[in-house]
Amino acid sequence: MRALTMTDYHRMEVADVPRPSPGPGDVLLRVTATGICGSDIHGFTGENGRRHPGQVMGHETAGHVAAVGDGVDTDRFPLGAAATLNPVVLPESDLSTYAGREQHCPRKLVIGVAAERQAAFADYVVVPDRNVVLLAPSMPVHLGALVEPLAVAVHAVRLGDPAPGEPVLILGGGPIGQSLILALRMAGVDRAVVSEPDSRRRDLCRELGAQTISPTDGDVAEQAQQVAGGQVALTLDAVGMTSTLADALRATSLGGTVVLVGMASPTVTIPAYAVSTGERVIRGSFTYAAQDFADAAAWLGEHHGQAAPLVSRVVSPEQAPQAFLDLAGEQPDPGKVLVRFDDTPPGPAGAPS
Ligand SMILES: [Zn+2]
Repeated sequence: MRALTMTDYHRMEVADVPRPSPGPGDVLLRVTATGICGSDIHGFTGENGRRHPGQVMGHETAGHVAAVGDGVDTDRFPLGAAATLNPVVLPESDLSTYAGREQHCPRKLVIGVAAERQAAFADYVVVPDRNVVLLAPSMPVHLGALVEPLAVAVHAVRLGDPAPGEPVLILGGGPIGQSLILALRMAGVDRAVVSEPDSRRRDLCRELGAQTISPTDGDVAEQAQQVAGGQVALTLDAVGMTSTLADALRATSLGGTVVLVGMASPTVTIPAYAVSTGERVIRGSFTYAAQDFADAAAWLGEHHGQAAPLVSRVVSPEQAPQAFLDLAGEQPDPGKVLVRFDDTPPGPAGAPS
């Protein structure tokens, strides 16, 4: 089968590798499409040190159940069922300890990040059955690749606990910022203000229903206050660097919350008094609990039409190496780039899968 392999930093190749087979308790998914994540790009360039040459990445994926291992309930996971995978895998012995907060398990493994495991930039991927989340039959299967980034956003919004009707500021209008707009809507918040320098990304955020400002037009906190009618109680930083955290703290009211979900810089400097004297809270957000993921999948099943604009481009595995270079370059796509593996989906001839 084909597997998109990072042979070196800045270099992807389509390799021919053996198809994995499902062990006991595992499900084999035939991959329809896998999204390229910002973290994959930072791994591809070597910037974040969280991906390694020789690795097959890919954690935002959807496809169909192709085979199951011993002990898997085929009534729950019938052959051909459309599904996505929750890439956060816990050892079975830790499941009850970390129920409801799976992301806190120190022994978790993230499919697509863990170098020792072949992930979803391939024709097939193996995953424990407890990490398989079925998709609504009515939704186009490739859009199931958006469940994972939406789950990241759902989790960040839940940590921020916004009040319905109150405006929320989002810093960064890339795929996570775009997913945050949708996750806020899920939480009953319709007023999102997004700060983003790229005009095509701002256009996309407005298409999703947000108001936008640009850091190139002046002070972000001042612009945000003008649009929102004052400081906001919650800012979601989907960038995560010194300048965005400073903007976030200044745009947020006394006692308010900044959720740090972006991971652009491993180290930042923060204005300490904005935290201490302002009693502002900076909350870290990473991945999601299993329930966040399941809720994101269920919402997307009903509202996939709202999420479809998030996909900017669909490429073949053979075109993917260039897409990685594009995304690492000066003019990245405004939204998500999906790598489509399965060109012959099941279903009526010509129907989109
Ligand atoms: Zn991701």
